Amino acid sequence: MSQPSPVAQTFSFDDVVQAHARIAGAAHRTPVLTSSTADRLSGAQLFFKAENFQRMGAFKFRGAYNALSQFTPEQRRRGVVTFSSGNHAQGIALSAQLLGMPAVIVMPADAPAIKVAATRGYGAEVVFYDRYTEDREAIGQRLAEARGLTLIPPYDHPHVMAGQGTAAKELFEEVGALDTLLVPLGGGGLLSGCSVVARAMSPGCRVIGVEPEAGNDGQRSFRSGQIVHIDTPATIADGAQTQHLGQHTFPVIQRAVDDILTVSDAELVEAMKFLASRMKIVVEPTGCLAAALAFGPQLDLGGQRVGVLLSGGNVDLARFAALIQAAQP
Ligand SMILES: *Cc1c(COP(=O)(O)O)cnc(C)c1O
Repeated sequence: MSQPSPVAQTFSFDDVVQAHARIAGAAHRTPVLTSSTADRLSGAQLFFKAENFQRMGAFKFRGAYNALSQFTPEQRRRGVVTFSSGNHAQGIALSAQLLGMPAVIVMPADAPAIKVAATRGYGAEVVFYDRYTEDREAIGQRLAEARGLTLIPPYDHPHVMAGQGTAAKELFEEVGALDTLLVPLGGGGLLSGCSVVARAMSPGCRVIGVEPEAGNDGQRSFRSGQIVHIDTPATIADGAQTQHLGQHTFPVIQRAVDDILTVSDAELVEAMKFLASRMKIVVEPTGCLAAALAFGPQLDLGGQRVGVLLSGGNVDLARFAALIQAAQP
């Protein structure tokens, strides 16, 4: 493989510490939840970091705000553009609104209605594209050049990675050292940031990324040492339908993550049901990736202290109901 990107080589816990200072006061410090039923089910002591309670409903606000708050006055005046299937879009839109700058969001035409409405609700301009035939990155680049906007991608950017890592920093600050940390994985912004934090704050903690089974490009990349590209995977985890890891996120994941495992859509729905019925919280399918692994049979977590990142809660209630209904025996 070619040399890791310079960004990946220098990216460190210190970047996350600085990001945390930047987002303090803007981002919520989300609660850490526990459940004795979940502990019994897994045989472990589980600590759920509830980013479904983050502003705009997912951890993505952390990275977006950290990135936008570092714009120069000229960049602020012109604004930001991004491409996203949803939560990053809302994170950018809300951050732009809070920091008083224009935002343009390139979104797939079939993005969940709740995410489109929320993005517009934060005052952003939405430009649609067909995710099966068009290249969103190229559209984003074109808009950036044509209008002088600064492009902030959903995961492959050091300021985004650092911001996402603050979720794990808060978790370790609250509960202390852990034996295992389970983190949902799409393009790897969250996992790269959180893994660097785990290495610094809880040496010896095993860090595992969790992907949807249908889109296991991250696992294949991790095991082969090369970034694997796949077609848009068919999974209910719409926040993890990424086609490849990033040039910056991948090398960090290679050096700071222990393994990448997958869960099925059926396991995601089971986890979603459990979190709603037992813990009284709404977590979107992608947000259930880490929990589904903790509840399932793949890992022996017996007696361990385990961090479980619940990454977001943005799901149409009708879709939420339909997924649960379809899974009833
Ligand atoms: C974006 C997202 C992920 C995946 O994060 P990456 O940084 O792309 O790996 C996981 N869960 C939710 C809810 C998300 O919005």
